[in-house]
Amino acid sequence: MNMEEKFFPPMIMERPKAEQKENQERFIETLNQVSQIESLSGQEEKMRQYIEGELERMAVQSERDAKGNIWIHSDSPEGEILLCAHMDKVGKGCSVENEGGRVKGRFDDAFGISAILEVLKNGKRPSALFTVEEECETEVANEAGEIGMKMRDLGATGFNAGANFAVGRIEDGEVRKPKMVVNVDVSAKASIGEGPLIYQSCTPFGTNTFRFPSGALKDVVRIVNKNEMGAKVIHGGANDAIEFTFAKNVGVVTVQVPVENMHSTNELADLGDMRKAIAIIELILDKHAEIKEENEIPTHAIRDNAISL
Ligand SMILES: [Zn+2]
Repeated sequence: MNMEEKFFPPMIMERPKAEQKENQERFIETLNQVSQIESLSGQEEKMRQYIEGELERMAVQSERDAKGNIWIHSDSPEGEILLCAHMDKVGKGCSVENEGGRVKGRFDDAFGISAILEVLKNGKRPSALFTVEEECETEVANEAGEIGMKMRDLGATGFNAGANFAVGRIEDGEVRKPKMVVNVDVSAKASIGEGPLIYQSCTPFGTNTFRFPSGALKDVVRIVNKNEMGAKVIHGGANDAIEFTFAKNVGVVTVQVPVENMHSTNELADLGDMRKAIAIIELILDKHAEIKEENEIPTHAIRDNAISL
């Protein structure tokens, strides 16, 4: 089996070549726009307006919550899956350059936003959440003009303030409880060009606080393997997904694309990885009924020894 066949199962290959090319160009253009938009943590208004504009064009209704997150509440069957990406960036935006499938830009989390918009443009109707304030660092330039990172003021809410607020709304029954959250982001944990990553997020409190076993993760891995999508499964990683592991009976997986030079305007990524990640997200939506509603154990229950595994 050659690499093409391994990574592109029949479902993907069957798309007419012209349509694939058109979709790819459309996706790169979206990525280029999102990569350029200024959107520091707590200052996501331009990004919010861009996303809302795109959703309006697709006649997809959205809601802004009190924290500034954007929600799509879908009542279609695949709406039980909530796709999530963060709107903030650690520094300035930049345009995207594409050289033979290797792309350079600011993909964290322009990739997640663009991927969710692409899935919607392809006619899928999941629920979605675009969060504020995921990044905990921000760029600063020293006197020589060199760019470094510093911890930003996280305020009273602390880490992942947008996602944290969103979990509160789910727990309070203000919004539909998703069967599973699919967090879409980038990662420095793997090499570019080797396919996307799928994992269950950890918590910042130590290795014994992984929410494991996760029924949702196991189901997703089974579905992805059956369709030979060429993704790696790993453990751990800190991002918005952490917050959802604190919700009861909500499955959580992260789908990430590897990048080099993470948190810079020189992030390098592979378009093939991005395409595969989008295909995996669409596959999860197509097979949403195969993801069982197991009793997902919230992370804090494990941490507090309320449940022993
Ligand atoms: Zn990110």
